[in-house]
Amino acid sequence: MVDDTIFDKILRGDIPCDAVYSDDRCLAFRDIAPQAPVHVLVIPRKPIESLRSAVAADEALLGHLLLVAARVANQEGLDDFRTVINSGSGAGQTVFHLHVHVIGGRSLDWPPG
Ligand code: AMP
Repeated sequence: MVDDTIFDKILRGDIPCDAVYSDDRCLAFRDIAPQAPVHVLVIPRKPIESLRSAVAADEALLGHLLLVAARVANQEGLDDFRTVINSGSGAGQTVFHLHVHVIGGRSLDWPPG
């Protein structure tokens, strides 16, 4: 069983979030420590630990998360934005429930750190 993360608590409503989009498969809410004027996290309701643990049966869900990320960016008035999925602690993942960062509202350097 996947560990109960802070995002599972948010999904259950045990702790609050600033939600910007919700449907039967995912929830999008503002990051508590934003790295840009817009910083939203899109998370599946299904408790997938990270992208590296996703399986073929998650294909449609993964596509849905990206479409929701684009929808949220549009909703936030962003033409240009970045989507980031950190997989594993060495890549910066700190919450082990899959999430897509949607970041924008300022110019973004490449490559990321
Ligand atoms: P990552 O480092 O890719 O695992 O991203 C985890 C993100 O979750 C970080 O950007 C945190 O700021 C964010 N975060 C952690 N706790 C909360 C919370 N309670 N509400 C919103 N965002 C959170």
